[in-house]
Amino acid sequence: MSERRLVRSVGVDRHFGALHPRARVLASQLPLTVLLAAGVAAAPAAWNLHLASAWGQAALALHAALFLACLLVPWQRFGPLASLVIPVLDLAAIGLSRVAAAEELPGLGVLSVLPVVWISASRLAPAAIVSLSFFGPLLAGVPWFFAGGVDDSPGRIATVSLLALMTLAVSLAMQFARAQLRRQQRRVESKEAELQALLAESRERERLLNTILDTVDVGIVAIGADGRRLLTNSWQARLEASAAPPSGAGPADPEWEEQLLLTGRDQSTPIPPGRRPLRRALAGESFADHLVCFGEAPGSRVVSTGAGPLKNDDGEFRGAVVVYNEVTGLVNALAAKEDVVATVSHEFRTPLTSIIGNLDLVLGEDLPLPVLRRIEVAQRNAERLLALVSDLLMSANSAVQVHPRKTDLAGLVEASLGSAQAHAQASRVSLGMDVPAPLWANVDPLRIGQALDNLVSNAIKYSPDGGAVTVSARTEGGRVLLQVADSGIGMTAADAARVFTRFFRSPAVRDGSIPGAGLGLSITKAIVEGHGGSITCSTFPGRGSTFTVELPADGHPAAF
Ligand code: ADP
Repeated sequence: MSERRLVRSVGVDRHFGALHPRARVLASQLPLTVLLAAGVAAAPAAWNLHLASAWGQAALALHAALFLACLLVPWQRFGPLASLVIPVLDLAAIGLSRVAAAEELPGLGVLSVLPVVWISASRLAPAAIVSLSFFGPLLAGVPWFFAGGVDDSPGRIATVSLLALMTLAVSLAMQFARAQLRRQQRRVESKEAELQALLAESRERERLLNTILDTVDVGIVAIGADGRRLLTNSWQARLEASAAPPSGAGPADPEWEEQLLLTGRDQSTPIPPGRRPLRRALAGESFADHLVCFGEAPGSRVVSTGAGPLKNDDGEFRGAVVVYNEVTGLVNALAAKEDVVATVSHEFRTPLTSIIGNLDLVLGEDLPLPVLRRIEVAQRNAERLLALVSDLLMSANSAVQVHPRKTDLAGLVEASLGSAQAHAQASRVSLGMDVPAPLWANVDPLRIGQALDNLVSNAIKYSPDGGAVTVSARTEGGRVLLQVADSGIGMTAADAARVFTRFFRSPAVRDGSIPGAGLGLSITKAIVEGHGGSITCSTFPGRGSTFTVELPADGHPAAF
């Protein structure tokens, strides 16, 4: 039996069990009463025979008494087995009816099946059910057996015993079916209990997840592959509400993200629909640290967004999760810090320029040698200070302005090596150049010259035991490759990964006596990226470093 059908039949049992005890007894008796009445109505001769014989009158009286008993006895006051007296007496009444009208209603004996079914469906012990199902119809057949003549006895013995065997078979089949049913029912119940437990566990997990989602200080949105929102935590709902247009439809609207007031880092340029975090995530992009401003300036909130795809077991894209982390405080603090650095550096520059100028003038005069040496030291240090202040000023400006024009890179490299010559000689470093002349590129000569100076001076500075520095350049597939290679101290891979970070100095250098502020390479990187190019570093401790600058030959500056 399929589980669904079983559940339905168990349901019927439950409905029957829910009936009032009297209604239940009546419902169990009704089929026999109806069949008897139908039989008598169909064969009026049987009715007359019943009325004519004492057996028949007794049978009718018993049938009627049993029906009334079903109707009038308060069965609820007795135990559940008390009503079984009815089917047992039904068997006796059928036995009496058979004596009266077996000829006209030959199927009367078969009606014994109905009380047997009733008994078999009861909660009586299985042995008692089986005994009653066999001996009940057998004993009920005794009066009919004796009512026949001696000649007829073999046939009647067979009829009575066959009927008893048949009711026994029916009862056994019912017992078997009930046992099956009970087993299946137990299985269904245990499955249902398992399901309930799983349901309770999943509800518990959902509650836990919701609590976590609503407690964390970041926004979380999950979207399905069709763009429908699966989840928006309360932090995110509040963030979106702060950037919502006055007549916005709400997060349920698939176009909701497009309606939000989202701008770029400048807090004024609206982010085009295709570059908004949810749209990018929906396109299958994984990203981190995509800065987006929510709401109108000056009160807009700067949020760092990141996304990752949701995949099913087959690796198919099923949606994405986008995380929003507010960094307004951090961004403001950084801006304030850069403001201070820029202001202080600017204020330093004017007096420093004046000091250097005046020292220059003094150096032109006829001075005693010791004084001259001291003034030269002062001038060198003032120049270093001015260079540092310039670097600080430049690194405080997040955008590097470049003005590209047709420039001969070979000339730039030559000039850079020329001005580094004295430094190289002092450090016993030989300088080499491998650049075809002329090598034209569309770059800002001032800025690229500055980047070259940084790389060359680093190459010399970080070759404290002497060595060789070579600058090479070539064009390759529409790009210009510029390399500055040295045979100096090199770096570990971990240092190389951070070398373009502002104020980074490798631990080996920091502990030594090589001066520096950790700004040169970050400025160089900003200059190169300002030209739409890139810079990389390959290095090994003790075996030198090679910095490679790649620039587009046509020199389109990147949009900063
Ligand atoms: P600075 O040289 O003033 O410290 P930079 O930004 O130019 O700052 O360089 C950052 C750091 O990278 C240096 O402190 C040094 O540790 C490392 N570095 C740069 N260039 C080289 C090089 N050619 N060889 C070895 N280390 C280098």
